[in-house]
Amino acid sequence: MPRILYSDYDYPDIALEREVFAQHGIDVTAAQCRTEDEVIEAAQGAFGILLQYAPITERVVSALPDLGIVSRIGAGYDTVDTEACARHGVWVANSPDYGVGEVATHALGLALALIRNIVACHRDIAGGNWHYLSSGRLRRPRELSLGIVGLGRIGKRMAQLSRDVFKRVLAYDPYLIDGDFPVFVERARTLDALARAADVVTLHTPLTRETRGMIDAGFLAAMPRGGYLVNTARGAVVDVPALVDALDSGHVAGAGLDVLPVEPVPRDSRLLADPRVVLTPHSAFYSVEAEVELRRKAAQNLATWLATGRPDYIVSAGTRLPRR
Ligand code: NAD
Repeated sequence: MPRILYSDYDYPDIALEREVFAQHGIDVTAAQCRTEDEVIEAAQGAFGILLQYAPITERVVSALPDLGIVSRIGAGYDTVDTEACARHGVWVANSPDYGVGEVATHALGLALALIRNIVACHRDIAGGNWHYLSSGRLRRPRELSLGIVGLGRIGKRMAQLSRDVFKRVLAYDPYLIDGDFPVFVERARTLDALARAADVVTLHTPLTRETRGMIDAGFLAAMPRGGYLVNTARGAVVDVPALVDALDSGHVAGAGLDVLPVEPVPRDSRLLADPRVVLTPHSAFYSVEAEVELRRKAAQNLATWLATGRPDYIVSAGTRLPRR
């Protein structure tokens, strides 16, 4: 019977994935691999790996000659070395479209919480202060501009949801052609141009060599004073010490962060102590329906590859073929 390794997961049970694999006559070995060595040992002889966070590196791929495909449960795949997989002919798949609406709605929710002081007011009331000005003055949303960094699936949905809230919606995405921009979205030609024009910046890029630390002190300084930052992409896209400095100086008025470079947030993080920061626990993707879709589609990639030689959702194509 063909076998896959379910390398790691934080779900209470994996009945859903077992059902998908049983329907296709695939045997599952479930593990909780954290290191390269654990993946290498557990995946011997497996044709595929279904993973949440396990490291799929050059060392791992080169030690697994039977491996044809890895499928990430999620849209991002930064724990998978896609170049190493391509060198060895291993397909990389993901599950990108399960929570587009969830993440975009969450990003807009964080933006609205910031520009309306919602969490800050709640905290003030809990502290005994009931006054509409308790958390400071607010600007009219219709006078603010929204800047979207990364106009892919989620960025585009965010643009649609936000167009009736803000005065302008701008986006920066150097990988798109002009025709990919919806008519109501203004194109910013450079990241700096977006920073200068946007009162609210929302991040929707993957984490790559290029985007790591992209939102740095220079970017934040270029934003108009009193601006807001929302990050539902990946924590390391933002230089967090630079953000803390920008909040301390008052240049940035608030930040809504669903993702952080280190998760969970360290208890002594200055972000936790700052009333202008709203945090959520990497939950933007989540709804009951999205989680089922996410897991089913990621598992189905492996079954589809076994049947056809291609997964449903390709991150990068491989050359290895299923054994007949
Ligand atoms: P996508 O691939 O559809 O869109 C990403 C966009 O970013 C693309 O259009 C790409 O051209 C653009 N991009 C790449 N490099 C860029 C750069 N240097 N500057 C500007 N734009 C750049 O991906 P998506 O489905 O919209 O998801 C976006 C990201 O959101 C994912 O990579 C993932 O990291 C994150 N995400 C987070 C959660 C969560 O729960 N917080 C859930 C799902 C996805």
